[in-house]
Amino acid sequence: MTPERAAILDSVGAFLARHLPPEEVRRRDAAHIPPYDLLPEMGRLGLFALAVPESAGGLGPGWRTVALVQERLGAGAYCAASIFNRVVGFGLVPLLTYGSERQRGELVPLLLAGEAFCALALTEPEAGSDAAAIRTRAERVAGGWRLHGRKSWISDAKAARWLIVAARSGPEREGPRGVSLFLVPSGAPGVAMTPLPKIGNNCMPCFDIALDGVTVSEDALMGEEGRGFAQLMATLHVSRASMAAAVTGAAEAAVGIALAHAKGRLQFGRPLGAFQAVAHRLADMRIRVDLSRLMVRHLAGLIEDGLPCRREAAEAKVVATETLRDVTEAGMQILASAGYAAESDMQRLWRDARLYTFGEGANEVLRDAIARDMGLGERARA
Ligand SMILES: Cc1cc2nc3c(=O)[nH]c(=O)nc-3n(C[C@H](O)[C@H](O)[C@H](O)COP(=O)(O)OP(=O)(O)OC[C@H]3O[C@@H](n4cnc5c(N)ncnc54)[C@H](O)[C@@H]3O)c2cc1C
Repeated sequence: MTPERAAILDSVGAFLARHLPPEEVRRRDAAHIPPYDLLPEMGRLGLFALAVPESAGGLGPGWRTVALVQERLGAGAYCAASIFNRVVGFGLVPLLTYGSERQRGELVPLLLAGEAFCALALTEPEAGSDAAAIRTRAERVAGGWRLHGRKSWISDAKAARWLIVAARSGPEREGPRGVSLFLVPSGAPGVAMTPLPKIGNNCMPCFDIALDGVTVSEDALMGEEGRGFAQLMATLHVSRASMAAAVTGAAEAAVGIALAHAKGRLQFGRPLGAFQAVAHRLADMRIRVDLSRLMVRHLAGLIEDGLPCRREAAEAKVVATETLRDVTEAGMQILASAGYAAESDMQRLWRDARLYTFGEGANEVLRDAIARDMGLGERARA
């Protein structure tokens, strides 16, 4: 902790207290209201600029600070951490890594100000974990490209100003080669979205997207033609760091709720926490969250220092998401009927947690990647 980081966290705390206190988080969850209206305020506070170097128009403190901010947002209101990741992980990071000068010039100021964000459209009905099996096609036409295909489960797509669409542009019939990325205005003619009802993360609506002859200009191509898959893989580990930090914050919140309940609820004439079975359960929750935090902070340091960290990103994502899944499960047992009540914060964290062990790279697939890094297993595709 430095004085600068402490001041940033204070302003994040004040933002949460003003705009997303617990009763407001519950209200938005119950009414399925995303936090898009808060993006300009997050921009004004400079939160998105933390991830961007000063040379690119940002504030430049780097990923150690971003991880702390995401942890705080995740603990107070996961919906804010989630939209932060859409702006930073799916927007600023890919744009600054392989966006063209024109794309950076147009989008980066809007993203930094919280006036717009990008959604990532990779998944398709037949291509989830096997993302390299996508079938959406981009064909060359005079002056640009025409896209045909279908995308599934795209978070926040309707409110996003742009979709980063992964499409097959090359002659290769399958696999990661021949995939390119396109910056497509979400309201472009030929884009049709259908909401997908789901069981959690109520403030993050998801959509099935039909791309029916969507025409974009030549400069909609992001990065190199045919290198889109490699480009995505080169930045997804950064958005995983942001997500793992937020998930760690949510897990900290779950421990806090369970601990308060164990101290306050009396049964058999004693607080629940006086029973060793409950106390040990809480001690295990504490250990898991501390472990997760250490891994996330280590990863954030590697990213900030520009060091290789794909394995560490996979590890941190696996540990953080399984920690949240397990501590919310334990928390539900400690709260029992109080947790099962619709207004309980624990049930929301528990429901939401179910997504993260398979979203943004299923943990099984990430374990495969870790095993490959150890010289084990078979190489999937490629
Ligand atoms: C709420 C929500 C939001 C999402 N947001 C986005 C988004 O914004 N953009 C986007 O592009 N996608 C998004 N997705 C899609 C998400 O990334 C996929 O759900 C994820 O990649 C898993 O794909 P799948 O659901 O098709 O599962 P599948 O790929 O069918 O996998 C099913 C199960 O099989 C396991 N499995 C698969 N292959 C292997 C293997 N080789 N070895 C061992 N186990 C394996 C998986 O781990 C999983 O447990 C979202 C999904 C949800 C539910």
